[in-house]
Formats: sequence, structure tokens, C-alpha cells
Amino acid sequence: MPKVYVTRPIAEQALDMIRRQAEVTLWSDPDRPPPHAELVRGVRDADGLLCLLTDQVDAEVIAAGERLKVISTHAVGYDNIDVAAATARGIPVCNTPGVLTEATADLTWALIMAAARRVTEAERYLRAGKWKSWSPQLLLGLEVHRATLGIVGLGRIGQAVARRARGFDLRVLCTSASRKPEAEGELGAEFVDLETLLRESDIVSVHVPLTEATRGLIGAAELALMKPTALLINTARGPVIDQAALVQALQQGVIAGAGLDVYEVEPLPADDPLLALDNVVLLPHLGSATVATRTRMAVMAAENLIAGITGERPPYLVNPEVLA
Ligand code: NAP
Repeated sequence: MPKVYVTRPIAEQALDMIRRQAEVTLWSDPDRPPPHAELVRGVRDADGLLCLLTDQVDAEVIAAGERLKVISTHAVGYDNIDVAAATARGIPVCNTPGVLTEATADLTWALIMAAARRVTEAERYLRAGKWKSWSPQLLLGLEVHRATLGIVGLGRIGQAVARRARGFDLRVLCTSASRKPEAEGELGAEFVDLETLLRESDIVSVHVPLTEATRGLIGAAELALMKPTALLINTARGPVIDQAALVQALQQGVIAGAGLDVYEVEPLPADDPLLALDNVVLLPHLGSATVATRTRMAVMAAENLIAGITGERPPYLVNPEVLA
């Protein structure tokens, strides 16, 4: 029977599917990834690896997996995997696109609303016993309806966020690596360059993958282009935004607020300056975190893994050239 290494407990339904086809070694700590050395050990005699975004599947891991026939990640983003090293070894890398689009778009809207209306700050205020009376000036926020929303990266999630904007009567601007005339038309989204989007948007929401081209895409210069009343939302990947520059912009009122699900370093260190700021809503990387979505992701990752170890073509390949 083929052997697979699974780096965290995932939905039981998916583990059952894998156990029917392979001998499973499971890193069973639900809260922490295997240390790097353990990951290297784990792939040594494995035919398949099912990993998470918290695992650094670098060249060392890939070289150690001499028998690896597939790397299947339980995520759509795969910036944690050295895809070039896997491709050089002819190993298919697979991800879970699509099934988490709507859940992540929902959470993006939770951040937009919470940042605009100061929801978490207001709850902290109430719980701290500071609420004395209804007051005309208490915790005033920004209006979301009829504002201008700028989508950076009009892919699956960016489009799903833009679709939800219709209910709030928003004007939608977008920028992306390539034009998508059909989606732009259907969503009523106006394609502009990044600079125009940053200058004109009240809410900027980031949905690009983390690549060498998008690392640090939003830095001090880009933040300075934004309106002082604007909000920056990031449910993509932390390093797309220069976090130190964002902290400074939030401290100095260059922008009004932010809503973040992802960070340059995860988990966010206990002494991170973001934690001292009231004008930022902070979530612990929960974009796809619903029961239904996480189950679909796990099943999809299992299907990719099983196809890879049984010599079939995995349905969702990041590097299809390995099977060309
Ligand atoms: P997608 O469909 O591939 O969309 C990404 C979009 O970004 C594409 O439209 C792409 O343009 C555009 N893009 C790529 N490079 C760009 C650049 N340099 N400048 C401007 N636009 C660029 O991916 P998705 O499924 O929407 O997911 C997007 C990202 O969200 C993932 O990669 C992942 O990192 C993140 N994510 C986070 C969570 C969470 O839990 N917070 C959950 C799911 C996903 P083209 O179409 O022209 O290539």
C-alpha cells in the first residue's frame, strides 16, 4: 500500500478516503505544524504529501521525499511550496481552487464592515464598561453604502467580493494582471491602474496571490496615495503588504483603518505593533474557516493526493507541465 504523510488532522471524511487507499502517517497536533525537521523525516518514505499553508515545503523537503509522487496542499495559495523544485523532480503540486471562494469573500466583507463601523473596537469599549450613554459623537465610523471599492486582483475571490458590493450600491474599481472583460462587464467593475485605484477608492481590498511580483505590492508609497479616510483590507497573503509601512500609516492617519486576516509572520507575534492599534481589525487567518468549506477543501486535497499516488492525473494541478 502507498504511504502518505498528512501534516495536520483534517476533516475526518477526507482522512477516511485517504486511509482506504494508503497507509497514513498523521502529524496529530491540531494546533501546530510539524517542525521542519519532522516534515523532512515525514516525507522520507512517503509516496504522497498532504500539507497545509503553514508547512514550508522547500527544496530540502522535496529532495528528502525521494519517492514523492504528489504534493497536495489544503489551500488555494501555494506560496509555501517550492513549485520549481517539485517541477524539476517531475512531482505534481495540487491545490484547492474555487471551493473556498465564497467563504473567503464573505469573510472579506466581515472585515470591511467591521473596519468601517469600528465593530470590534466598539465591542471592546462596551465590554470594558466604558459605555455611559447614547452619544451623538460616540464611535463614528465610515459609510460603506455607495462608497468606492477597489479590488486588487480580480480573480475568483476578488470577483466574489465585487459581486457582493452590488447590494451596497458600491462603485467598483479593479486592477489585475490581465483584463477580464466579461467579469468586469458583469460586475460593473471599472478597470484602472493600481495608482488610480488607490487614489479613488474608499475601501481597497487585496486578492492577489503571493508571488515575487506581488510581494510588497502595497508599501509606504502606495499607502500615501490612498485617501486619509480609506480602509485597506487584506485576506490574500500578509507579505503582499509592507506591514511596517501599514503600521506607520495607521498610526499617523495616512489611512483611516484596516482589516487583516493575514500577516507577514503568522501567528502574529505577541509584541506586534498592530496589536496596540484600535483602527485595525485583526483575524487569525480565517478566510475559508467554515465547516462546509473546510470539509470541501479537505476532500479536494484528498482527491488530488489519491490521484497522485495511484498514477491518475490529479484534478487540480498547479504545475500541469509535469504531466505533459
Ligand atoms: P485567483 O483566482 O488566481 O485570483 C488572483 C488574481 O490576482 C488573478 O486575477 C490574477 O490575475 C491577479 N494577479 C496575479 N498577480 C497579479 C499582479 N502582480 N498584479 C495584479 N493582479 C495580479 O486566486 P483566488 O482563488 O482568488 O485566491 C487569491 C489568493 O487569496 C490566493 O492566492 C490566496 O493566497 C488567498 N487566499 C486567502 C485565504 C484566507 O484564508 N485568507 C483563503 C483563500 C485564498 P490573472 O487572472 O490575470 O492571472
